[in-house]
Amino acid sequence: MAATDVLKPDHAAARRHFIFTDEHEQLRESIRSFVVKELAPHADEWEETTFPDWVFRRMGELGLLGLSMPEEYGGQGGDYYCSLVLAEEMVHARCGGLAMGVAVHTDMATPPILAFGTEEQKRAYLEPSIRGEKISCLGITEPDAGSDVAGIKTRAVRDGDEWVINGSKTYITNGHRADYIVLVTKTDPGAGYEGFTLFVVDMDLPGVIREEKLRKLGMHASDTALLAFQDVRVPDGAVLGQVGKGFFGIMWELQGERLIGAAGAVAAAQAVFDRTLTYAQERQAFGRPLSKFQVTRHKFADMATKIEAARQLTYTTAWRFANGEYPVREISMAKLYASRMACEVADECLQIHGGAGYMREYGIERVWRDLRLNRIGAGTDEIMLDVIGRSYDL
Ligand SMILES: Cc1cc2nc3c(=O)[nH]c(=O)nc-3n(C[C@H](O)[C@H](O)[C@H](O)COP(=O)(O)OP(=O)(O)OC[C@H]3O[C@@H](n4cnc5c(N)ncnc54)[C@H](O)[C@@H]3O)c2cc1C
Repeated sequence: MAATDVLKPDHAAARRHFIFTDEHEQLRESIRSFVVKELAPHADEWEETTFPDWVFRRMGELGLLGLSMPEEYGGQGGDYYCSLVLAEEMVHARCGGLAMGVAVHTDMATPPILAFGTEEQKRAYLEPSIRGEKISCLGITEPDAGSDVAGIKTRAVRDGDEWVINGSKTYITNGHRADYIVLVTKTDPGAGYEGFTLFVVDMDLPGVIREEKLRKLGMHASDTALLAFQDVRVPDGAVLGQVGKGFFGIMWELQGERLIGAAGAVAAAQAVFDRTLTYAQERQAFGRPLSKFQVTRHKFADMATKIEAARQLTYTTAWRFANGEYPVREISMAKLYASRMACEVADECLQIHGGAGYMREYGIERVWRDLRLNRIGAGTDEIMLDVIGRSYDL
């Protein structure tokens, strides 16, 4: 390297992170082009109507619903980083509810079927899910138990060679459209953490009731359901994994969900940052662009630093996860930090937009509303802090 190169800062250097290869970058480009061409144009409409089911079928056709799933079940056989790429590129649809609905399917409900399912369950649920022909949802939260997963009350009781399920689940993403639910139940209330069991339950069974669509602050393009289960009978073959091991299974599922959430939050923060940068360079006040005020420059510097820190934490943790470690502490840190950071960035970007930030037309208020969920869903900030704190035996 010549001395002149050493002395000149290279702000435009675009060396990719070491976890990604050329193939990942090609995948990124093709997902971006699909998302921008086929999804983003509908973002405003889907805020009103929720996104249509054809999105799953189209993404299935394109192979996007099983990027990290084995080829024998119709997946692409890619590594874990392919899922990160999808989560990052979905933000370019500018439709948080859509990204969430798809992520619930690809990274929350279907991975437990691959990890714990029987061959029969993989053929019956995983394969059509990867093709986008069956839509999934995940049922953990209940009206009386969210953060406290062990406090759930939904019961599954064995009756001959069947199980009878009673209870309710709330805030269930995709709950109205789903063909099946990966359901967390209690099978032995006296057995502590060994008393939980996962089931795969068809949503058209007698006794599965989809109650009202819940109205919410953001993520309007997604459907969020309150569900009731009244004497729902399922065969033994509906047990997912081992009876009594459901709590550990769902805790494992949550790690993938949190890491994907962190990646999505970083990407969303970067996207709103980029849009706001352009705005600040164009918008004039007191005879100069907003970007030429030192206070604005420092806001961008602060945001860029936080985005980069969250990105590095997320990627490094993903690298450990993908290489066989189970870094629950760092996953919790990534989820916590990326979620908080994304909310702060969205808020600062709204501020930089002034009144325009408050107007629907610019889409910034939507990002601000949608991102607020990240600090609640998949484990709240407080729960992440508790997991991190307890990891030090505190
Ligand atoms: C739009 C949306 C979509 C969702 N999608 C799904 C889904 O698809 N499937 C699903 O199962 N769930 C879903 N959820 C539920 C989500 O995971 C829960 O809302 C979340 O885990 C928090 O649970 P809760 O709402 O019951 O809050 P609570 O557990 O009642 O918590 C309330 C407050 O108390 C705090 N708190 C609780 N316990 C502690 C503690 N020990 N120490 C300190 N503070 C504590 C929390 O951090 C929070 O601030 C969704 C939620 C929303 C809003």
